[in-house]
Amino acid sequence: MTDCLFCRIVAGEVPAEVVHETDRTLAFRDVGPQAPTHVLVVPRAHHADVAALVDVDPALLADVMAAGVAVARAEGLDPGFRLVVNTGDDGGQTVQHVHLHVLGGRALGWPPG
Ligand code: 5GP
Ligand code: ZN
Repeated sequence: MTDCLFCRIVAGEVPAEVVHETDRTLAFRDVGPQAPTHVLVVPRAHHADVAALVDVDPALLADVMAAGVAVARAEGLDPGFRLVVNTGDDGGQTVQHVHLHVLGGRALGWPPG
């Protein structure tokens, strides 16, 4: 069994509220939402971070981004939304399986802290 949390969610071994799925991606609500809508989009295949993903399978990164936009549309985020990929320690990445945050439902401040 893998010790990667998001691989375990993809495998159905850890429960999650799935909101969108394709053959190559899965989207589920973040357990600690930072906005009224906070969804994570992951590739079903394990890649540690966006740098690794873009080197190996840039088309899959495009699929992840497209899924993020599909989620934003389905969630009715017409006033706008934010897509974020935290990377590495300084980027605040805590789960080492690349994931796209889809945030919206309120005015989001800029710049981030
Ligand atoms: P990161 O900090 O790596 O960019 O984002 C990881 C995200 O995963 C965090 O926003 C955190 O709330 C979320 N998260 C951590 N554990 C779980 C979990 O078991 N289920 C879900 N749905 N989200 C999780
Ligand atoms: Zn993984």
